[in-house]
Amino acid sequence: MAREFDLTPQAVPRIETPLRRITTKLPVPESLPILEKLQRYEPLAMRGQPPVVWQRAEGFQVFDAYGNCWIDWSSGVLITNAGHGRREIVDAIVQQAASGLLTSYGFASEIRARLVERIAGLLPKPLEKIFLLTTGSETVECAIKLGRAHGFAHGGSSKNIIVSFTGAFHGRTLGAQLAGGIPALKDWIGNLDPGFVQVPFPDGFRTSDTSFDYFERCLREQNVDARNVAAVIVETYQGASAAFAPREYMHSLRDWCTQSGALFVLDEVQAGFGRTGTMWGFEHYGIVPDLALFGKGISSSLPLAAVAGTPEIMDSQSIGTMTSTHTGNPVCCAAALASIDLVVNERLAANACTTGEVLHGRLREIQARFPEIGSVQGKGLVAGLACVTPGTTVPNANLAWQVVRRCFEKGVLMFAPVGFGGATVKIAPPLVITEAAIRESTEVLEEAFEAQCK
Ligand code: PMP
Repeated sequence: MAREFDLTPQAVPRIETPLRRITTKLPVPESLPILEKLQRYEPLAMRGQPPVVWQRAEGFQVFDAYGNCWIDWSSGVLITNAGHGRREIVDAIVQQAASGLLTSYGFASEIRARLVERIAGLLPKPLEKIFLLTTGSETVECAIKLGRAHGFAHGGSSKNIIVSFTGAFHGRTLGAQLAGGIPALKDWIGNLDPGFVQVPFPDGFRTSDTSFDYFERCLREQNVDARNVAAVIVETYQGASAAFAPREYMHSLRDWCTQSGALFVLDEVQAGFGRTGTMWGFEHYGIVPDLALFGKGISSSLPLAAVAGTPEIMDSQSIGTMTSTHTGNPVCCAAALASIDLVVNERLAANACTTGEVLHGRLREIQARFPEIGSVQGKGLVAGLACVTPGTTVPNANLAWQVVRRCFEKGVLMFAPVGFGGATVKIAPPLVITEAAIRESTEVLEEAFEAQCK
């Protein structure tokens, strides 16, 4: 699992380009009191990221207080689609905060009305209703509830199965982890709910059989009757690897759900709002889900998430049975409206598409040099490099960790997600990144593999 960075300051080569600057030891000796305070007062589980104390972040760069600057490949954790610290978002937040309304729970506010209308207006029909929440995990919990309730209403109490995929990450709360497909994250649960079933994700790398027959066969092998499936939940691309499913597979899955009376839920928490080169990740498949779940890049900043769905499903719960204390917080709504305007007006999905082509082209070149890179997955401005024992799919977490460390020391910041033993190098810069910055940062990545794989 994830490994901790040593807090002993190390001398590292000086880096100074217009985009990156590393001029101190790392971690910076003066930053140690902050890092140590976090270690003292936060749980161990919070550790694992490269030891930089973020002071400010702007566009596609992260700055510390000691003169260092990184090209950011993390977007936090795929949050800042419109860029870090955008003036338009800051102004919207400040204006809303100064307006006299900081919170209103489910009581009406004009800004919440504007945001749900805006999101619904961008989504394809029949995704017409929007329920605002705070975190991605919350949207997953809501989808599980809507899925099971839909199953019970249309197929009785045995229609309760939630099908999801191996390797999936849907969040940290109980339902989200039951739906998740990373076994090590479920150790703490103990009595697993038999109503949650996983099938292999057709990534074409770890699962070589990407035919839809395999989906049906895996369900049969687990004695799952299609009539008892309440919902299928799938990430648009797997966060742990950045892998997409084949288009035909997703079409078949969409049809299968319709025929089985199961809700088709797409977890777009990472994929939404331009990340993959289209506004919605599901556009790559040419399908529309019954429910789409959003978070992260929805606001590029403050905590906000959303469930979008068909009126029939979204109105299936009676008044007062779906609420959340911070639903559509006005300041978060202001941030989201400003961020969505930036994504739309600056055509950031198109930028993700064109700079993404440069990124993926470079990654394929790098992969061709190093058999330790088993696969390069992703679209637009998300990519995952699977670090493996050459010629196999056996994860090499140490390599991913060392590559992240070396890039950090050279002014490129990222993280290795927890899935597949932490062996994926994940690349997800803000969508405002330039081609020049992609070229410069992929050079750093190549040097890191060179140094590590010699
Ligand atoms: N779904 C996906 C696909 C995610 O990547 C994440 C977070 N990494 C979540 C759900 C959970 O979101 P949150 O951390 O906001 O609860």
